[in-house]
Amino acid sequence: MKLIFVGVQASGKGTQAKIIASRLNLKHISTGDLLRSATGELKQEIDSYINKGNLVPDELILRLLKEKLPEDDFILDGFPRNKNQVKELEKITKIDYVVYIEISDETARKRLSGRWNCKKCGIAYNIVTMPRPRKEGFCDNCNLPLFQRQDDIDLEAVNKRLKIYHDEINVVIWHYPVIKINGEVPIEQVTQEILAKLSN
Ligand code: AMP
Repeated sequence: MKLIFVGVQASGKGTQAKIIASRLNLKHISTGDLLRSATGELKQEIDSYINKGNLVPDELILRLLKEKLPEDDFILDGFPRNKNQVKELEKITKIDYVVYIEISDETARKRLSGRWNCKKCGIAYNIVTMPRPRKEGFCDNCNLPLFQRQDDIDLEAVNKRLKIYHDEINVVIWHYPVIKINGEVPIEQVTQEILAKLSN
């Protein structure tokens, strides 16, 4: 199965993509993670886009993605994000479904302000909603200090990301068969809804 997960920032798409990938034995590819793990000069260039809430240029993300995309089953998380990326992905592979996790912008803003991440294992906690880390400010798995993403706490960047998301997401949703999921409920409930709808 080749799936795309979409949803506004903090909809839980990354969390769910990880869970579903491990339950269904699919490879999980997050373009946000790919970009954040870049090093050296490339990292500086990428951060100059990400930290302001802008998308990185298509040509750059496509280059990184092509190196990682497997031939067989996968979940793509954070790609495609615009018309051109849809067109380019079409040339590489055929997608079965888009899993579209819906939450309101109000929920998104609230969740973004409480999101804390671990650099080492990639887990995301949330001090506004659940799950919270057991020890405040530290990862349960790695016991390392957690950090907040610049583009989650900078209000201008948050607003820009929400605007870009609404401007471009329809292109993605209209292009593929879509499975709509309510993202406002607890994590396990979202997972169950995705698994149930995928097995139908
Ligand atoms: P995410 O972790 O999916 O919220 O992505 C974080 C940031 O990475 C976005 O705000 C963009 O700056 C960049 N990014 C991730 N995926 C893409 C993409 N498909 N095209 C362009 N920029 C992307």
